[in-house]
Amino acid sequence: MTIPLKTGSRVGIIGGGPAGSFAALHLLHLARQRGLKLRVQIYEPRDFSRPGPAGCNRCAGVLSSRLVRGLETLGISIPSEVIQTAIHAYAIHLDGEMITLHQPDESRKILSIYRGGGPAHGSGDLPPSFDAFLLRQACARGAQHIPHRVHRVRLQNGLPVLYTREAQTPVDFLVVATGINSRPPLEASFGYRPPPCEQMMQDEVSLPANWASGEVHAWFPPPAWLTFGALIPKGRYLNVSLLGKHIPRGGIRDFLDRINLPGIDGRERLCGCQPRIATGPAKGYYGDRWVVVGDAAFSRLYKDGIGAAFYGARVAMRTAIEQGIHRQAFHRFYRPHCRQVIRDNRYGRALYALWHLTLRIRPLRQAWLRAVLAERRLPPQRRIHERVLWGMLTGDESYRSLLLQALSPSAVFPVLKQFITQKRGIP
Ligand SMILES: Cc1cc2nc3c(=O)[nH]c(=O)nc-3n(C[C@H](O)[C@H](O)[C@H](O)COP(=O)(O)OP(=O)(O)OC[C@H]3O[C@@H](n4cnc5c(N)ncnc54)[C@H](O)[C@@H]3O)c2cc1C
Repeated sequence: MTIPLKTGSRVGIIGGGPAGSFAALHLLHLARQRGLKLRVQIYEPRDFSRPGPAGCNRCAGVLSSRLVRGLETLGISIPSEVIQTAIHAYAIHLDGEMITLHQPDESRKILSIYRGGGPAHGSGDLPPSFDAFLLRQACARGAQHIPHRVHRVRLQNGLPVLYTREAQTPVDFLVVATGINSRPPLEASFGYRPPPCEQMMQDEVSLPANWASGEVHAWFPPPAWLTFGALIPKGRYLNVSLLGKHIPRGGIRDFLDRINLPGIDGRERLCGCQPRIATGPAKGYYGDRWVVVGDAAFSRLYKDGIGAAFYGARVAMRTAIEQGIHRQAFHRFYRPHCRQVIRDNRYGRALYALWHLTLRIRPLRQAWLRAVLAERRLPPQRRIHERVLWGMLTGDESYRSLLLQALSPSAVFPVLKQFITQKRGIP
């Protein structure tokens, strides 16, 4: 049975993080094109202007160029005061060498932002929040912000009913965008199961005076418990992000002490949180009159979660407007998009496995490093290892494309050549 959205349909969006605001923006944009007038309400209790974890959806805050381009299709450009730093280079530290990767071209713009009001123990003016900016955009285009938490959602006579402390509200269509760091309020009959996840650790320190402008720094190989550690400039601060299995309690301090960069004091802790990151898809993420978007449904592996929320919400809302809000419509038109992201994440896992293998085997690591350094003599468009690394670090290209490039003869042969040269002891 087809269930369409009609003029006057009431849409309840739970969560006003990026996925919730994107869902509202796409829905209102597509509805306007069809002459539909919807009543869209976004439930979000968090005050994004507050500093520290209370006002923040806990992320490193790097926006990919594909997200920036996507926002432009909705007529949204990020105001300069929300942008903390335009990132144009990644410096990789490996075996005492530092390789600097530069933005491949002007169109691949990477930006850093604050999700909330900046670090808990920062000083001076609070930076404006990206999440607050998006929510304001959704409201300016017709959504209504309800500053309350939804405690429970039940299905009554086929309609989702949202329970807050203040009211019970039946809606024609429910969009769940609650992310992965809080318990979704759906009752068991929805059959929803949240995605698997891993724990990360973050903090902020002051930006040293001599920090090269717009440069992210990443360290390989990190301590055994760490998959990846990076320092990301955000205005007056540096975000420290660690991803790994079983990160010890003092992980940030340990990491900063190991890298021992001048101007960074491992004892300085301006914020601190241990958020989760989605590593697989949710189960049962759509049904009649409801759909889950953003991290609570699926995301890209380790990178560009906000970009994934944008494009996922676009497909889900296009389905709702063009095909209807019944299970079958989401199954036919939204699920394939999720499967495509998940398939690409598999390539991502293979790419990370290859990368970790290369880093773990010392002769291979050295051969790879020499190949990357030798590549510097080539024009930028022919530096294949640089391109793969840039894509891996920024989430700017599909994992499939990156893996194919990493395994191509023009990437593999230079490493083999360096490996053989090393074995023969040729300097
Ligand atoms: C350490 C770390 C670093 C990351 N770095 C990046 C990065 O640099 N770039 C990037 O693109 N992605 C990054 N991500 C991923 C990114 O944070 C997520 O993909 C993104 O936040 C997903 O958006 P969302 O709206 O689905 O969820 P969230 O951002 O978590 O938003 C969910 C919202 O729902 C609200 N909510 C929850 N429950 C309820 C309820 N019951 N009622 C009402 N409201 C509710 C919450 O208050 C919250 O505002 C990172 C993740 C982690 C953990």
